[in-house]
Amino acid sequence: MKNPGIELFKDGKRLDGRKVDELRPIKIEAGVLERADGSAYLEWGANKVLVAVYGPKECLPRHLSDPYKAVLTYRYNMAPFSVDDRKRPGPDRRSTEISKISAEALEKVVLLEQFPNSMIKVFCEVLQADAGTRCASLTAASVALADAGIPMRDLVASCAAGKAGGEVILDLGKKEDNFGEADVPIAITPHDEEIVLFQMDGALSKEEFQKAVSLAKQGCKTIHEIQKAALKKRFEQVKPPIKAVKTEIKKSEVSK
Ligand code: ADP
Repeated sequence: MKNPGIELFKDGKRLDGRKVDELRPIKIEAGVLERADGSAYLEWGANKVLVAVYGPKECLPRHLSDPYKAVLTYRYNMAPFSVDDRKRPGPDRRSTEISKISAEALEKVVLLEQFPNSMIKVFCEVLQADAGTRCASLTAASVALADAGIPMRDLVASCAAGKAGGEVILDLGKKEDNFGEADVPIAITPHDEEIVLFQMDGALSKEEFQKAVSLAKQGCKTIHEIQKAALKKRFEQVKPPIKAVKTEIKKSEVSK
């Protein structure tokens, strides 16, 4: 990660003009796909992520099913056109790792015990990547699960903090991620602040580490507000079901 030749701060500000504790702009829209049970589209800085959720449905293949709870699968996939150099299509070590830790984060909130022998599938497609895509995908995935009406004890909000140019900063941009000193992506359940995902790349002192975690938690809380607003907007749009009109047919009107 380290590259002392790259200047990451100019006149006390980050390369994109942000303050140390400022997030990139985030937009979330829930319910964007007709054929999925739940979905969400998220833009976070230059990141663009689309998530589809299917289920709970019968677990196939059957040998994977669990008689006590639903199985949750998570596929994080970066589109070949999502980065500057074409990314080789298909899974790789990085996407397998991200899929695994993201599934484990969501397993902490989804009430899987309510759906034995079932399967819940989450598909995250990164359409454009610009650092922070695992956090962006997980944030959108929890909105898509809520959109699918899948019971959860809380949402999961995710955000990274780290160190670049000697400063502890929130939500690393691409250059900060590539040339900074450390990156700490986390995910929390916003109500009780339980950490459900935690990773660290690089090195931090104890004080820097505590500052980074506290910054990331603050970031997650802001993101949680955006998630809630997206879901509120989604369910305000849902029209109430048409009321059945009771009609009485007189005996005399029924043709013999
Ligand atoms: P995250 O996207 O969660 O920050 P990384 O730190 O592994 O994950 O990646 C940082 C950024 O590096 C990505 O968001 C993406 O812009 C870029 N990147 C990751 N993998 C590739 C790849 N295979 N080819 C080109 N760029 C990549």
